[in-house]
Amino acid sequence: MTKLAIDGGQPVKATMLPYARQAIDEDDRLAVEDVLRSDWLTTGPKIKEFEAAVANYTGANEAAALSTGTAALHAAIWAAGVGPGDEVIVPAISFVASANCVLYVGAKPVFADLSPDTLNIDPADVLRKITSRTKAIVVVDFAGHPCDHDVLRRIADQHGLTIIEDAAHSLGASYKGRKVGTLQDVTTLSFHPVKHVTTGEGGMVLTDDVNIAKRVRSFRHHGIDLDLHARNKTNSWEYDVVDLGYNYRLPDINCALGISQLAKSERWLLRRREIVDAYNSALQSLAMLHLPVQRDDCLSAWHLYIVRLNLETVKVSRSEIFAALRAENIGVNVHYIPIPWMTYYANLGYKRGQWPVAELEYERMISLPIYPSMSDKDIADVVTAINKVWTNYQK
Ligand SMILES: *Cc1c(COP(=O)(O)O)cnc(C)c1O
Repeated sequence: MTKLAIDGGQPVKATMLPYARQAIDEDDRLAVEDVLRSDWLTTGPKIKEFEAAVANYTGANEAAALSTGTAALHAAIWAAGVGPGDEVIVPAISFVASANCVLYVGAKPVFADLSPDTLNIDPADVLRKITSRTKAIVVVDFAGHPCDHDVLRRIADQHGLTIIEDAAHSLGASYKGRKVGTLQDVTTLSFHPVKHVTTGEGGMVLTDDVNIAKRVRSFRHHGIDLDLHARNKTNSWEYDVVDLGYNYRLPDINCALGISQLAKSERWLLRRREIVDAYNSALQSLAMLHLPVQRDDCLSAWHLYIVRLNLETVKVSRSEIFAALRAENIGVNVHYIPIPWMTYYANLGYKRGQWPVAELEYERMISLPIYPSMSDKDIADVVTAINKVWTNYQK
């Protein structure tokens, strides 16, 4: 039995393998440099070009670029008309931005539990959480796996609710042959460096609803009336502020990077699926692990590869396994601590123990490294490290 690095042995890798990482090539650098040499660093032609490229890739009719994925969620919720007194149903596990955006507009997040197989929001629990105040549902395609979109759609239609799909993890995924970006009323993307395509920071709102798209475009630009702006060619200084908006614009510099990145995203998705296949076949017989699943009617975008530990098969806790893998220089992570457990949310009155699936599964989740530029050797190192931990810690 090889001695674990955490016990003073040799680590599997000499340097830390991150759980996610951007891939920046020469064409990305040149695309950004072109903008730096141009007249427009922001509010220029690259914005429309990037929006058109994402709309074309996803099949959405309207796309509006924003400064971050969080800004996109804020704009989407606001544009959908959610405000003070409204309730919005949100999954108990996601990145905190999925719920924060509800608070930004003065509404109340109501957390729903997860389906045990995909860890996506459980439609049955959504149904239980609907009240007369419910206005919308934020659904997150967790780890890249699409939610049960048709079932959620049916529930939303029956109760007159808007669905905001937080697709920060699922650009390029599909559900029943339909692509993410065409599945719900409004879809938001993130272009943070750990996501599928990066612009440094950045986000986008996708929709087929021209009115929502118009509201988002005004919201990202101080709430300025863009119709007046377009109409008034003569008195070109004139503008009017009709809503309280923000400066949530995405600069042309970032859009140029996004255009160049998006051209590679299909190839990167294939690489992610190769990594998943490699992990699945190398790890499937390990009693310590419950591997992530993909439902038959879905193609996941595999933003994350989340394993769940069968803790009854080992002598140690999740945190000891986590620390042992980190010591081997495998950059494992945990996505995510339940949002209602956060201090800010606890102070708002949310009490633990109301989401049995989310809270139980959270205790046994670990994310393994996955990103397109990972080498086959990197994959093999992750597998070696996991086997090493298993042989040392199995009961
Ligand atoms: C990354 C992420 C966001 C926020 O995106 P930013 O671009 O970092 O603001 C929102 N929701 C989920 C699920 C995310 O993973």
